Parts: sequence; C-alpha cells; structure tokens
Amino acid sequence: MAVYENGNGSVFANDAKINLQRVPNLSDFFPDLPKYPNPLNENKYFHPSKGFFATETQFVAKSVTIDVSNPNPPNQKYFMLAGPREKVVFKSEDVKAAIVTCGGLCPGLNTVIRELVNGLWHQYGVRQISGVLAGYRGFYSSDTVYLDPKVVDSWHKVGGTMLDTSRGGMDLKKIVNSIEDRGYNVLFIIGGDGTLRGAHGIFEEIKRRGLKVSVACIPKTVDNDVAVIDRSFGFQTAVEAAQAAINAAHVEAESTPNGVGLVKLMGRSAGHIALHATLSSRDVDCVLIPEVPFFLKGPGGLLEFLDQRLAENGHCVIVVAEGAGQDLMPKSGDGAKDDSGNLLFQDIGYWLSGQLKKHRNENHPGKVFAVKYIDPTYMVRAVPSNATDTLYCTLLAHSACHGAMAGYTGFVAGPVNGTYCYVPLEQVAYNQHLVNVNHQKWAWVKSLTNQPEFVKPDSLP
Ligand code: ATP
Ligand code: MG
Repeated sequence: MAVYENGNGSVFANDAKINLQRVPNLSDFFPDLPKYPNPLNENKYFHPSKGFFATETQFVAKSVTIDVSNPNPPNQKYFMLAGPREKVVFKSEDVKAAIVTCGGLCPGLNTVIRELVNGLWHQYGVRQISGVLAGYRGFYSSDTVYLDPKVVDSWHKVGGTMLDTSRGGMDLKKIVNSIEDRGYNVLFIIGGDGTLRGAHGIFEEIKRRGLKVSVACIPKTVDNDVAVIDRSFGFQTAVEAAQAAINAAHVEAESTPNGVGLVKLMGRSAGHIALHATLSSRDVDCVLIPEVPFFLKGPGGLLEFLDQRLAENGHCVIVVAEGAGQDLMPKSGDGAKDDSGNLLFQDIGYWLSGQLKKHRNENHPGKVFAVKYIDPTYMVRAVPSNATDTLYCTLLAHSACHGAMAGYTGFVAGPVNGTYCYVPLEQVAYNQHLVNVNHQKWAWVKSLTNQPEFVKPDSLP
C-alpha cells in the first residue's frame, strides 16, 4: 500500500488522508541526539526477533468500526503504537529518573510505581530512580526517596501511594529548576486532569529551556473521565468496591418497610462508576449522574418515582454520583476551593437523604420510612488494585518506560481499543470523557431501572 506523508502530520494511504497523532521525540528538538541500540537486545529474557520492536509507522485507529462508504472519516484519529523501539536516546547509566504521584488516590497507584521501577531496572538497566514525595511540591520542598525493585517489591499489595500525594504546590519555575538541579532526564508523572495540565506546563517549560528531559505521563483518575484512552487504571477495582456498597444498601432497604438505600459514589463530572456499578449490580432503581440533570418535585420528578417504587416494591435503591444535582442545592455562597483550585462540592447524598425524609414526613405521615445513606467514597479509591487492574498497571507502566527511553516526550501512555499507545499529552489534559447518554449503555440502564427521563413539564419552575 502506498503511504506517504503530506508534511503536516497526515499521510495519504491509497490516496485517502489519514489523521496521524504523533507525539514529540527529543530528537525532534535535538536533531544531533545520538541513538543507541535498545538494551533489550542484550537481555537474556527477551531475544528480540523480527517484529519485536514497535516502529514509527505503526498506528492504532481510535474507532474500530468503519463505514465502508466512508472508510477514512476526517475525525478518525490514529495514535502511535506503544512498545520498545529499536533505538533509545539514553544510555542506561546516564538515566536519572523521577516518579511523582499527584491529586487524589486511585487503586493501582503503587502498582504503577512498582512497575515503572521494575521496567526501568530490569529492562533498561537504569539504576538511578527517585521517588518525588507528596506531589508536585516534592520537587522543591523535600528530599526524594531512592527506589529499586527491592524497595517497591510488595507495593502492589497496598492501596494509596507510597510516595504520598497532595493537591496544590504547582510552582512551575521551582519544579523545573529542581529538575535541572537534580539532573533528572526522565520524568514519570502520574495524576488526574489537573496533574496532566501541570505536566503540560512542565513539558513546555523544559522545551523552552532546551533541556533533554523526557516527560511521560500516566493518567490517573478513579472517575474514568480521561479522554482518548479506553479506561483509566483502578476504575474496575473501584466499580467492584462500589458494588459492595450497593449490595449493602439493598440489604438495608429490603429489611425495613419503605426502606431506601442511598449510595453516593465518586464522579465529579462523569458518572462512569455509578453507571457501571449499577449495570453490574442490578439492584439499583435509579442512578443519578452529572451528565443527566434531575429534579425532585412534580410529575416526572425523583420524589414521584420514589413513591411509585415504594408502593410497588416496598423498597428502593438510589445511586448518586457526587457531581450530580449540584445545581439543586442551596449555594453555600463561599465557592470554596481545594488547594488545587477545584471547586469543593456540597454533599449531594446527605442533602438528598434529608429531602427524601422531608417529603415522606410531609406527604405520607404515619407511614414507616427509613433512608440508609452509605458514602463509600474513600473506601472505593483506597483499596489496592484487583487482578485485572494490576495487570493493566503493569503494562501501562512498561509502555511508559519504553516510550521515555525511546525519547518520546509530552505523551500519555494508555490503551486505545485495547492496544497500548502514546497519545499527545494535551489531547488528554484538556479533554474529558463523559458518559454518552445517547449510547446504548445508558439506554440499557434506563430500561433496567425504569427510572424517569427527568423531563421537566413546562409548568414547573
Ligand atoms: P484527581 O482530580 O483525580 O484527584 P488531579 O490531578 O486532577 O487528580 P488536582 O488536585 O486537581 O488533582 O491536581 C494535582 C496537581 O496538579 C496539583 O499539584 C495542582 O496544583 C496541579 N494542577 C491542577 N490544575 C492545574 C492546572 N490547570 N495547571 C497546572 N497545574 C495544575
Ligand atoms: Mg481532577
């Protein structure tokens, strides 16, 4: 097949334009950068044979479905295949790697750290690996910790992050000064949307200063709202933990007349955990997510639905994502933010539980009624990764190692259609993956729960 570049990142294959998404390489900025054979050639376990190394011409399509009437739609993107390259830009003994975790916790953080260390050590012979403590501020406010396979050996078995994390502390100048002073040339940054925006700033500043430093990122967010990639690590573990809370809510609800089990789950902008836990549990009568506005009173509202379900079934289980219904609650007025500048949300679960009780007391006086409100938020994200996520974290971390050693920079490692890729950092940092309410998955939720569409009649304010 004839494939040729048109000079601006696109190529033509058989005369069709293909939208290739390349990530930068240090050799783009330093054309004379020497390249070395990949140390995996010398590794007794690998024996690279033909096809072992990924090449510059291999890409992965974002969408796996094609319409034969339009096989190359303009919005189809192709991402670089991740994996070891034949040549690397660092000699093992020259690498000074740093690993940092920022933002909230997520199952699998320690597994990613462990596997970055193991990947660098065993596959690339890197011996200088530092853990930066407590997020971005750790670059300039504290000593680092030495990491080797022995130190991190059992880290995958515990939740949280052994390197600690924090919010705030993003002082770009101080961070890049510290990167220069400490001589790091390979950075692994693990964090959510805020962290990735910070990493993009670091990448740009490193470029401006002309430093030969590779910036590799691994997206972390338990909410699974990371753009482009299939799913974020820890998500499946979190769904499993969330389901345990829903089971408990169901038992509580069933064990009392007119019992309501109310579970609040993580999901600031995206309701993926609530949606997936609902689909997996089948005990949920109504799931409220940030993408679908709802209202309480009047025809088609939540309170009417509650009364119907209690009359029909004697109990009701409601799941609410933390970002849902924020517009319904009286504003606290202070617009308080956390140290990273994120707006602090009001507790929708606590508020909703009060509203349900008030409604039943006022409209069904004398009838037994109970709401059991369960908030498993921190339990869901503080657990260690399950088997699937541990494997996923391992492959992610190794993909990031291969990319950084090959000189790629300003990139995110992650799976696209089940194949590990390198994605330009800014595409992930400045976009979000929300629940697609036009997709059959949401339709399936509605048919399982029979919950209202929450279309407000015109007569209601
Ligand atoms: P999560 O939301 O999943 O907990 P996060 O990475 O979004 O993870 P934040 O606390 O928002 O968590 O941010 C983590 C770090 O990134 C903090 O040190 C914060 O100062 C920094 N940061 C946040 N937003 C930005 C931004 N827009 N530009 C630069 N740095 C940022
Ligand atoms: Mg965030």
